[in-house]
Amino acid sequence: MQDDTFHDAGIDRDPATGLSSDPATGLSSDPATGHPRPPRREFKARGSFVSRCKGCNLPVLNCLCPYAVGAESEARVWLLTHSMEHNKPTNTGRLIRDVLPDTEVFTWYRTVPDERLLALLEDRRYAPFVIFPDDQPDYAERVVGIDAVAEAKAAGHTPVYLLLDGTWRQARRIFRKSPYLDALPVLPLYTQRLTRYRLRKPASVEHLCTAEVAAELLRQGGDEDAAEALDDYFDAFNDSYAASRRHEKLEAPTAAMRRLLVRRDEG
Ligand SMILES: [Zn+2]
Repeated sequence: MQDDTFHDAGIDRDPATGLSSDPATGLSSDPATGHPRPPRREFKARGSFVSRCKGCNLPVLNCLCPYAVGAESEARVWLLTHSMEHNKPTNTGRLIRDVLPDTEVFTWYRTVPDERLLALLEDRRYAPFVIFPDDQPDYAERVVGIDAVAEAKAAGHTPVYLLLDGTWRQARRIFRKSPYLDALPVLPLYTQRLTRYRLRKPASVEHLCTAEVAAELLRQGGDEDAAEALDDYFDAFNDSYAASRRHEKLEAPTAAMRRLLVRRDEG
């Protein structure tokens, strides 16, 4: 069953590889040893929260589809997503594409660069910035501030926030092992914001998840409306998913959800 990982405390596990299930016995087996695991506990509401909505990929108990909104921005977001991160339902990168349909998503493999990304990096219409901390001296000359975004716009280019989407370690690896990024300016995100993401345990509350980073960059770069929509959509995702994990149905829309409904009506 695709949704097995939803029951697990190990929420970072890849649903495609994390657990396997023997169709004959229905017992899951430990992927490391192949030994059968004891049957999982039965839940009262079994089935009602396990199945996922085909639209939003969230448990149907608190489906996110009614709150999907689109927004417009001057800047674009491109995601370079680590291959291990791609299919995780808790990944927040996909929320960005839901709100900003021009968002590009590329899968990162160490040995094979994405041809389309390489072509876009050469495209003079865009001014891409790699979003990465400026905590190492060896690329200090490439570091720019958020002002560079306005300068790119003034020069007639579309600024692009290129986000390295993965765990902290994966992002570092992408940054270091992708020669085609070496010529790009590096834009670190400075913010006082603390993470509101509740679906994975952060190493630090100062580590924002991908959707939060995008929202902050959009806000600082002058796309306040898109930032607001993405922030509300992220909060709706976070609250819906967290409630489903507690096997609770949200009885009333949250404040962020109500704002999204208004936005949909107006759109
Ligand atoms: Zn849905």
